[in-house]
Amino acid sequence: MKYDIAIIGGGPAGLMAAVASSQLGAKVVLLEKNPRPGVKLLLTGGGRCNLTNNLSDSRAFISRLGSKAKFLFSALTRFGVADTLEFFHALGLKTKVENDQRVFPLSNKAEDVLAVFLAELKKYQVKVETQSEVKKLVKKDQHIEKIILTDGREIEADKYILATGGKSYPQTGSSGDGYGWLKQLGHTVISPAPSLTPLIVAESFIKDLEGLSVEAAKLSLYQGAKKITSAQGDIIFTANGLSGPLTLDLSRQIDAGKLNDLFIEVDFMPLSDLESLDKKLQQVLAASSKQVKNSLDNFVLPKLKSVILKLSRINPEKKSNLISRQERLSLVKLIKGLRLKIKSLAGFERAMITKGGVALNEVEPQTMRSKKINNLFICGEILDLDGPTGGFNLQICWTTGFVAGQSAQKDKSF
Ligand SMILES: Cc1cc2nc3c(=O)[nH]c(=O)nc-3n(C[C@H](O)[C@H](O)[C@H](O)COP(=O)(O)OP(=O)(O)OC[C@H]3O[C@@H](n4cnc5c(N)ncnc54)[C@H](O)[C@@H]3O)c2cc1C
Repeated sequence: MKYDIAIIGGGPAGLMAAVASSQLGAKVVLLEKNPRPGVKLLLTGGGRCNLTNNLSDSRAFISRLGSKAKFLFSALTRFGVADTLEFFHALGLKTKVENDQRVFPLSNKAEDVLAVFLAELKKYQVKVETQSEVKKLVKKDQHIEKIILTDGREIEADKYILATGGKSYPQTGSSGDGYGWLKQLGHTVISPAPSLTPLIVAESFIKDLEGLSVEAAKLSLYQGAKKITSAQGDIIFTANGLSGPLTLDLSRQIDAGKLNDLFIEVDFMPLSDLESLDKKLQQVLAASSKQVKNSLDNFVLPKLKSVILKLSRINPEKKSNLISRQERLSLVKLIKGLRLKIKSLAGFERAMITKGGVALNEVEPQTMRSKKINNLFICGEILDLDGPTGGFNLQICWTTGFVAGQSAQKDKSF
């Protein structure tokens, strides 16, 4: 049996491509190596699925992704944020907008997002082949002739859509298989690297801060004495470093091969400058006859209190009103700029996305068709595109998946 379209990968991009093409009447097969599609989708947004960012202006959306994302301009015109929301709403998924325009299902359940796709796949009779791992794509001249699965089965279709994702969270099935195939087919693959990843730092005291989460902290990234960037947002300390949305976003700017002399400074109270914070602390200490470890209780969070007292070498038992100006200033400086040496980026196992992927100048931006292989379309995270946290990465999948799916069905040139 020959299909109109065979889609490899049942993640967000492949699912959207399957729905978009089958809605236009295509006979579609979706090949997924896991026992079920959408395994990573279920993990998104901590199980709540931050499905897009409510930035309906395409230019504003693209500017959050970086210059490469100009590639998306035409695709976003065809299926942008507003179209995505309309798509989900029409299929019964209610949504809500949270901080920073992050859109979530009203139910807070990623499985409700997946359910929308599963119902559509059923309605349009897409053949969903789970536990079907693709081993290779067989090329003849400038087109794909068939797909061979690891169990020996062969699948034939007129068009093929590659949506195997990146290499991050490999336990979800995203093991980077597509990169090798694309190289064999003559494509350039920009070296995949972990991105949106927690940072691992050198300081051993970091484990004492584990679990401390700080809203609206400020992180500044330094190469030696030179400040590279700084931003404000939410962070959480881990056993060996830092995570949370602000850290993940900052990690996009770090090259894992160039960590020499790279530091991060945490400002726990960015709303107060050094002098005003010092004044506040002076008042707190002067008004108290308690030991400093007790009088700091209403000033900083307990885990931070222990660490800054240790780092400033102040005896925690010392009476607050006996703390010297120098001691007080050292506390203030630690609160305004706890300096941490970046040892490494957490690897693919903990990276939310993969940066790098198939070179964008080898893919048609209007259709997602490969410029090397006539009947191959490419969508989702396997493209050399990535965005910050906030729903941008799933929107890349919805947009490119939809365009690939519709274009593959509409394209009669093959
Ligand atoms: C923990 C976590 C949380 C995240 N949260 C968010 C969020 O809230 N918002 C957001 O925008 N983004 C989020 N992301 C990023 C987002 O999940 C990804 O960008 C997105 O899943 C990529 O979709 P994709 O379809 O391109 O690839 P994937 O989701 O990786 O899907 C690829 C599929 O292809 C299958 N496959 C691979 N190789 C083969 C093969 N050889 N044969 C058959 N099948 C194969 C895989 O099993 C997989 O199911 C998160 C990522 C992680 C890891």
